[in-house]
This record gives sequence, C-alpha cells and structure tokens, in this order.
Amino acid sequence: MPLHFSCTMCGRCCHGLRLPLSLDEARRWLDDGGEVEVFCEAVPWPEEPAADNGPAWHKRKRSFLARSGQLPVRVVVTLVASFDGACPNLRADMGCGIYERRPTACRVYPAEVNPFIDVDPALKLCPPEAWQTPEVLRADDGSWADPVVAAAVVRRREDDYVEADAKHELCNLLGIHEAGLANEGMLAHTPGRERMREVLQAMAVPSNYAAPESDWILVSHRLRTMWLLESAGARGLQAADLEGAGRRFVSFVGDE
Ligand code: SF4
Ligand code: SF4
Repeated sequence: MPLHFSCTMCGRCCHGLRLPLSLDEARRWLDDGGEVEVFCEAVPWPEEPAADNGPAWHKRKRSFLARSGQLPVRVVVTLVASFDGACPNLRADMGCGIYERRPTACRVYPAEVNPFIDVDPALKLCPPEAWQTPEVLRADDGSWADPVVAAAVVRRREDDYVEADAKHELCNLLGIHEAGLANEGMLAHTPGRERMREVLQAMAVPSNYAAPESDWILVSHRLRTMWLLESAGARGLQAADLEGAGRRFVSFVGDE
C-alpha cells in the first residue's frame, strides 16, 4: 500500500530537534552562530557480517573501525545541531528562514534515511491529517514519490558513508574517544562552537584520512553491561561515573 502524506506546515518537526548534519552543513551551521554536538556510539564488531546482512553493512558503511581494549568495535559519529525550543531558523509563520539551503535532514522528514527502517506515522511528529491526503510519500514499490525527498534520502545516506573516515579524523583532533554502547545510548560531546569551527577548518578537504586505529571507552548506564564489557576485554565506563563538562550520556533504554 502506498503511504500518503502532505506537510501541514505545523512546525512541530522544527522544535526540540537533534538535527543530523554533514560536515559542510555543520560548518555552515556554526558560521550562522549555531552549536554542533558530536554524538558517538560504538558497536562491538568481532567479525565482518554475512554478505546478505543488509542492516549490518549499512552500519558498517556509516562507521569506522577502532577498538576498545581488546575488543574490535565500529564507531558511528553523528554531527548534530541540538535545540530544545524552536529552531533558530524557524519563522513566525512556521516557514523555514533558510529554506533554499536548509540541511538535507530537513528535506528528508518524515521519510527515513535507513533503507531498513519503515516509516511509522505513530513515531512521527506530523499531525493525523498530514497522513490523510491523496499525495503519496512512498509508493507501492517502496520508492519515495517526491523527487526532493528521494534525492535528500540518497544524499544524507551517501554523506554518512563518505564522511565516516573524516569523522574519525574529527574525533582524533578533538580528543574524543568515548562512545555510548550501541542500542543502550550515545555519548553526546559538546566541544564548544569555536573549537568545532577551528577543528572543522583544520581538516583536510576532501578527507582521505588513514587514521591510526584508536582506542575507545564504551559508556553504558547498565551495571550488567559493564561486566560483559570487562569479560570481553573492552574498556567500559559507567555513565554515572562520567566526570567533567562537555559530554553527557543519552540513554535509549532503562537502567536494567
Ligand atoms: S533549518 Fe528550517 S526546516 Fe530545518 S529545522 Fe530549522 S526551521 Fe526547520
Ligand atoms: S511535523 Fe510533519 S506536518 Fe508538521 S511541519 Fe514537520 S513535516 Fe510538516
């Protein structure tokens, strides 16, 4: 069945956001006076996935190889513009003040970049009437009907793939080597606007960074996970023991 959708311009998706950005978008966001955070999560990666494991290969392409102690991991880094209230670019009439150069993620919503995740209207911010329209978002064959959305989905996905190694370089330059354990949480690093600008400008463009393998600390809020990490030879840290400013643990699941 096709999925019907038409934006009502309610503006909900422009509030309280964590907006993923490409490296160039992050540079522009910082130039415009915004803040950009670095969200890191690590997946234990003891061996390469089977050739037909599409979701695992999608994750592999978005990540770089590293280790945590003796445990091989892949680290997924996402540059994020975070704001609690309205986006600084949102106009009073709920239009976008930078419409022509808005980030690709803004063009995607409410579609999905991950080809293995289906659109679930119940998980989206759009009001019920947005889904009760003759206009089609996703056709019967799974393709995106709107060419702007289709192009944005591909662009966002390709940016994630192409920039994975550059984000490794970014983390090394920022001294970031702590990540949330995938499926439990992410570690959000907040280096500060000026530091982010300085480091993004210092990076090679285009990046063909061959980073030395880096050693990461895996952060979780679950005591049982700490034991498992220790038994796997990994370097674990409980979220409650995080010290100092500039980072916070964002959990996806309950304590146990
Ligand atoms: S940049 Fe524009 S479209 Fe994107 S969240 Fe802000 S106001 Fe909304
Ligand atoms: S939440 Fe949905 S309907 Fe509302 S502005 Fe965003 S995309 Fe449009």
